[in-house]
Amino acid sequence: MRLRHIKGAEEEIAESPYVVQDPQSLKGKWHEFFGNDNPIRIEVGMGKGQFIIEMARRNPEVNYIGIEKYSSVLVRAVEKLEDFEQDNLRLIRMDAENIEEVFDKDEVDRIYLNFSDPWPKDRHAKRRLTSTRFLERYDNILTPEGRVMFKTDNKDLFDFSLEQVEEARWILENHTYDLHHSEYNEGNVMTEYEEKFSAKGNPICRLVAYRHAK
Ligand code: SAM
Repeated sequence: MRLRHIKGAEEEIAESPYVVQDPQSLKGKWHEFFGNDNPIRIEVGMGKGQFIIEMARRNPEVNYIGIEKYSSVLVRAVEKLEDFEQDNLRLIRMDAENIEEVFDKDEVDRIYLNFSDPWPKDRHAKRRLTSTRFLERYDNILTPEGRVMFKTDNKDLFDFSLEQVEEARWILENHTYDLHHSEYNEGNVMTEYEEKFSAKGNPICRLVAYRHAK
């Protein structure tokens, strides 16, 4: 049963015009692919896609790419795109560990990390999407003014991420332990996890970081 379910997801993904099947072939050519010079913003670990689809709807002058590791999850985003009529969004099924194979230096303007998996065991810290190891990867694809924006309700992961930003010598532009009651909440688009956890009363933390002085 499980295998049949996954096979169905993979077929749906393979047939979707929104899923880029061979993203490595577009490294350095994403602007050409979108046919414009609009900024390219990606969400790593987009899950079922609520955030990135709404961002693309609201901002047609920005190109968005959602990245998700698992077909069984990505297919839920594909299904949400049935009535989507814009050309500024694509999805990729891949492990973000290989992100430098897909995007070139200076190609990405913003990286969104939303409710990333916490990997609570110390020995798995390098797998956290805000670890210095991942920040190095992001460094190799972001524009000089590019930002990483990270939201989570997991305070331990958030504090770890603040430390990693400092260790990597990135610059913390701003941060809050309660996004929804802060000055930064205007225009905030909620993710699936954000809706779920804020409904339980968990405050949402958010940080914005970049590498170069303005
Ligand atoms: N961003 C969504 C949200 O806020 O509702 C989903 C959050 S969910 C906790 C984290 C998602 O990130 C999962 O769907 C997981 O499969 C994906 N993910 C985790 N590590 C990843 C990686 N290395 N590359 C791509 N996706 C990853």
